[in-house]
Amino acid sequence: MRAIRRFTVRVTLPQPLAPLHDLMLNLRWSWHPPTVELFESIDPAGWAASSGDPVAMLSTLRPGRLAGLAADEDFLRRMDAAVADLRQYTGEPRWYQSGAPAAAGTLPNAIAYFSPEYGITAVLPQYSGGLGILAGDHLKSASDLGVPVIGVGLLYRHGYFTQSLSADGWQTERYPADDPNGLPLTLLRDPETNDPVLVSVTLAGGKLLTAQVWLAQVGRVPLLLLDSYVEQNEPALHEVTDRLYGGGSEHRLRQELLLGIGGVRAVRAFCAITGHAEPEVFHTNEGHAGFLGLERIREYTVAGLTFDEALELCRAGTVFTTHTPVPAGIDRFPRDLIERYFAQDAAGETLPLDRVLTLGAETYPGGDPHVFNMAVMGMRLAQRVNGVSRLHGQVSREMFAGLWPGFDTSEVPIGSITNGVHAPTWEASKVSELGDAAAADAARLWEIRRQLRATMVTETRRRLRDSWRQRGASGAELTWIDDVLDEDVLTIGFARRVPSYKRLTLMLNDPQRLSGLLLDPDRPLQIVIAGKAHPADEGGKRLIQQMVRFADSEAVRRRIVFLPDYDMALARYLVQGCDVWLNNPLRPLEACGTSGMKVALNGGLNVSVRDGWWDEWYDGGNGWEIPTADGVTDPARRDELEASALYELLAKSVAPLFYDTDHDGIPGGWIEMVRHNFRSLGPLVQADRMVREYVTTLYAPAAESSRALAASSFHAGRDLAAWTQRVREAWPSVRIEHVEADGAEPSLGAVLDVRVTAALGPLSPSDVSVEVVYGAPGDNDEIVDPCYVTLQADEPVPGQHARFSGAVELGRPGPFGYTVRVLPNHELLASRAELGLVTYPDAPAGMTNGDLR
Ligand SMILES: *Cc1c(COP(=O)(O)O)cnc(C)c1O
Repeated sequence: MRAIRRFTVRVTLPQPLAPLHDLMLNLRWSWHPPTVELFESIDPAGWAASSGDPVAMLSTLRPGRLAGLAADEDFLRRMDAAVADLRQYTGEPRWYQSGAPAAAGTLPNAIAYFSPEYGITAVLPQYSGGLGILAGDHLKSASDLGVPVIGVGLLYRHGYFTQSLSADGWQTERYPADDPNGLPLTLLRDPETNDPVLVSVTLAGGKLLTAQVWLAQVGRVPLLLLDSYVEQNEPALHEVTDRLYGGGSEHRLRQELLLGIGGVRAVRAFCAITGHAEPEVFHTNEGHAGFLGLERIREYTVAGLTFDEALELCRAGTVFTTHTPVPAGIDRFPRDLIERYFAQDAAGETLPLDRVLTLGAETYPGGDPHVFNMAVMGMRLAQRVNGVSRLHGQVSREMFAGLWPGFDTSEVPIGSITNGVHAPTWEASKVSELGDAAAADAARLWEIRRQLRATMVTETRRRLRDSWRQRGASGAELTWIDDVLDEDVLTIGFARRVPSYKRLTLMLNDPQRLSGLLLDPDRPLQIVIAGKAHPADEGGKRLIQQMVRFADSEAVRRRIVFLPDYDMALARYLVQGCDVWLNNPLRPLEACGTSGMKVALNGGLNVSVRDGWWDEWYDGGNGWEIPTADGVTDPARRDELEASALYELLAKSVAPLFYDTDHDGIPGGWIEMVRHNFRSLGPLVQADRMVREYVTTLYAPAAESSRALAASSFHAGRDLAAWTQRVREAWPSVRIEHVEADGAEPSLGAVLDVRVTAALGPLSPSDVSVEVVYGAPGDNDEIVDPCYVTLQADEPVPGQHARFSGAVELGRPGPFGYTVRVLPNHELLASRAELGLVTYPDAPAGMTNGDLR
C-alpha cells in the first residue's frame, strides 16, 4: 500500500541540545566546516547516510543517543562554541558596515534579490544549474560581506528532478516530494495570531492564488520561499509550486506571477513582522522574476502616483541581470495569455492592460508581435541592466540593440559584472588551510592535489556502483568497478547541464582518437562526466545516452565514467578533485560559466573555449584555450575542427606537462601553472568580488536614484515623469537645421569649430544635449570607435532656432569623420540612450575633411 501523503516528524531536542536547532536552521553550516564537523560527530554513519543533512540525521537518531549527547560535557562545550561563533558572525559589523563601500555613495538600507531558483546546499534541491548556484553564492557572499539582502524565491515541492539511468543509458527522472517540515526551513507566522502569513495574487478570471512563506536563513540573509500548497487554494492551484521549470506556458506564468508579485508582498509582510529595513533596491535575477516591477508600480499608484510616475520610481530602484543569449533561456509568453491574466488585473488593482502589454512587446525588427518577452520587460522596468561577463555584456548589447534604435551597439545601456563563486562553499578545506596557496611548497601542493583526486576517485566508484545496481547489475558483475579510475592519472572533469550549446559529446567526435588518449600507455587520461538534461529535452537525453554507451564499453570503462544525478554535492567532489576542467560550448552562447571558477579555486586548470569568463581572464599561462572555428557555419564541420583542436591540445600540451615529473615525482611545470592560476584567478573568481561590484556599481547608484526621486513626496519622480512625457511628445519636432564646421588646415592637433542650429519645438536647450560624434570612418562611412563632445548652448535669441557650439580636437592622424546629434538631457537619466530618443541630421552630415596628415 502506498501512503497518500508523507511528512516528517521533527525531532524534539532535549533542553540542553536546543541550540542545535538554531545551528541547523541557519544554513551557514553549509559553508562552515567546523559546524559540519560538529554535526558529523553526533553520528558519523547517520551523517553519511543522510548525505550531510542535519535535519534528516537528527530525525533518525536513537532517543538514547540524544539523551547521551545532552549529558556529554565535551559535546555541549563544542556546541556552545559553534553557537557563539554563529552569533558573532551574524551580529558583527562586516565589509558593508565598515565604511569601505561608502565611496560608492548612498548605500541601500536593504536590497531584495529575486530569483526563480537557489542552490544553497544539496539538501535544498531548489536549483537546476548555474543560475541557481549563482543566486545561492550571491546570497552567501552578501551574508559574508554584511550586505543587507533579502532573497525571494519559490519553494518547489519536488525541486528539480533526481536523475538516474536505465540499463541502456536513457535518463530517467524521479520527483521525490520534499516535505518542508523535513527541510531546514521555518514557516513565517504572524506573531500576534501565530497563523502562517499568507500572500495572494489574482489570476485570470479573478481567481486567487495564495501561498505561505518559508524562511531559509542563509547566514545573515533571510530567503523567503513561497509555497502554494495551502488549503486556501483550490486543488488545481496547489500544484503551482510543484516543480522547477516544469509544465506549460500557463503554469510557468502562474509561477512567475507568484514569484514576482507574491514575492514583493511577502517581502512587505516579512519587513512588517520582523522590523527588517524595507528594500530600496530590487534586483531581478533573470526575466522570470520580472513581474516584481509591475507590483511595485501598482504600489506606487496606490500611493497616488500615475502609471508613468510609478514607472520612473520603479525603474530607479530596479536592477535587472540578463543571464543568457540562448533564446530557449528567455521567457516569452503568448501575448493573449498575458492579456487574459491582466485583463482581470493580476495585481488586484488597476494596471492599464495596454501599458502592461507594451512593456513586454518585442518592438524591434524581427520581433514577434504575438509574444510577451520577459527579458524585454526586465530591461524596460530597470534603469540599470547588466550581463554576467564582459563578452556576454557585448553579446547582450548586440542582441537587444533594437530596443535602442539610433544608438551604436557600444552605447546600448547594458553593462556587465562577471559572475563569481562563493569560495567557502567550493574550496576544499585542505586548500583554504594552506592560506596563500600560490606560495605553498611544491611537494605539499602536489600531495594535496593527489589527496583531492583520490577522494574523488573513491566517491566516483561508490556512485558508479550505486548507478549500476540501479541499472540492474548484480554485485558479482561489478568487481571491475574497484579498478575504475586511478588516483595518479591525469583527470579531466566535464559536468554541467546538457543543453545542446554546451556540447556534451564534442569529445566523442572521433571516438577512436578519444580512446587512444584514454588508453595511452605512457600518458593516459581519465574523464569523469555528469549532467542532467531538461526532462522535455529528448535531444539532450540522446546525447547522454551516447555518452553513457561509450563509457559502458569494456575497452574504456575504467578510464571514462558518466555519473548520474549531478548536484552540488557531486559538483564539490569533481571541482576539487579534477586536474583539468573541460568546457567546450558553442561560442558565444555561454554567458559566463562558473564551474571552471570553482576548479580554479582548488588548483585545477581550465581547458576551455574562449567563452564567458574564460574569454576575459585567460592570460596564456593559467590554463589552455581550445581554438574555436567561429566563422565556420556548417555545425558538423565546426564540431570536427574544434574537437580535433581539443585532442591535439590534450595530447601535445596538457598531458606532457602533467607527466613531466622530477625525481621526486613532482611535475614542476604543472605546479608552476597551478601557482600562477591561484595567484591570477584566485581573487577574481570569487563571489565576494562580484557582490562588491554589484554594491558599488549598481545597488548604491540605484539607491541614490531611488531616494532622489522619492524625496519630498516623490517630487523629483513626478517631475521626471512629466519631463519624460513632454520630451517624448515633443521629439518628432526636434530637427537639426544646420551644421557648420571650420578650422585651420586639418593637421594633427588642430581644432575644428562646430556650430549646430536645431529646431526644438516646445523644448528648451537645457532639455537636450547636442553632441559631435567623431572618429575614423569605416567602409560605409560609419564611425568606428566613436568619441563624443557635448556642445554648449549659445544665448537663445527669441524667435530663432537654438544654437550650439564647441570644438573638436583632431587628435589622431588619418581619415576623420563626424556627425552631430540631439539627445534628451536630464540629470536623473542613468545613460544617454535611456529614453531611446536621438535625432541625427536629415542628410548625413558631411564626412568633410579627407586625409588628415
Ligand atoms: C557550478 C554548477 C553549475 C554551473 O556550471 P556551469 O559551468 O556554469 O555550467 C551547474 N550545476 C551545478 C550542480 C554546479 O555546482
